[in-house]
Amino acid sequence: MVLADRVCKSFGSVPVLKGISLEVARGEVTCLIGPSGSGKSTFLRCVNHLDVVNAGRLYVDGDLIGYRERNGKLYEMSAKDAATQRRDIGMVFQHFNLFPHRTALENVIEAPIQVKKQQRAAAVERAEYLLERVGLSDRADAYPAQLSGGQQQRVAIARALAMDPKLMLFDEPTSALDPELVGDVLKVMRELAASGMTMMVVTHEMGFAREVADQLVFMDGGVVVEKGDPRELLANPQEKRTREFLSKLL
Ligand code: ATP
Ligand code: MG
Repeated sequence: MVLADRVCKSFGSVPVLKGISLEVARGEVTCLIGPSGSGKSTFLRCVNHLDVVNAGRLYVDGDLIGYRERNGKLYEMSAKDAATQRRDIGMVFQHFNLFPHRTALENVIEAPIQVKKQQRAAAVERAEYLLERVGLSDRADAYPAQLSGGQQQRVAIARALAMDPKLMLFDEPTSALDPELVGDVLKVMRELAASGMTMMVVTHEMGFAREVADQLVFMDGGVVVEKGDPRELLANPQEKRTREFLSKLL
């Protein structure tokens, strides 16, 4: 579903991603871990062209992300075409970024109506179903400020799902939450994984990574240092840098 082929990204003259190659199979969950500044967020952002790669290629479901190929040369897509491509990729951030003046339900129906031109009644019906799925059917009419961080994050997940994405990207979805609220969000993500969604998740929740991920990727300094089965990698890291990082986490 996702194929990264030697992806490089610099900000100005500072290289941040130095040739990331990675595959995420359809229906599988990949967790990304690594120290602050290792490029995890940048890599996720490149997957939906929010950041533009300088070299290498990214494919989602066989489509080259952000570029069109003509006569063997690559041309960056128009912003409009990139936005169209991005519709199929859901993204959930650390800070939930809900519209503050809209209720939970209105947040969820916004994009299906505005972007996908769905009828309001159909969008509402689907939103009600999705809010139920994230355990919030009774809070559909609440405004973000009236919801806990964990509830807001679950609305953000429902909002992303409302576009029927084929891939979901999560960038530290529980890092901003009080510890007692983390479990509800992880539960929703677990269920989503079990339903067959392809997911890429930057997280420091090692329990989640161990139990849910099909692949664990350790990044440091803009490269993939080590990747593999999460249980094996956590129990028996091969690289010194991985061991050092994990020893600090535990
Ligand atoms: P964290 O765990 O702290 O979220 P990360 O692994 O997600 O870290 P990134 O946010 O991808 O790391 O950042 C990687 C490097 O790229 C950092 O050195 C950061 O300062 C730099 N960087 C990220 N975005 C930009 C930007 N828009 N302009 C300039 N530098 C950037
Ligand atoms: Mg980050």
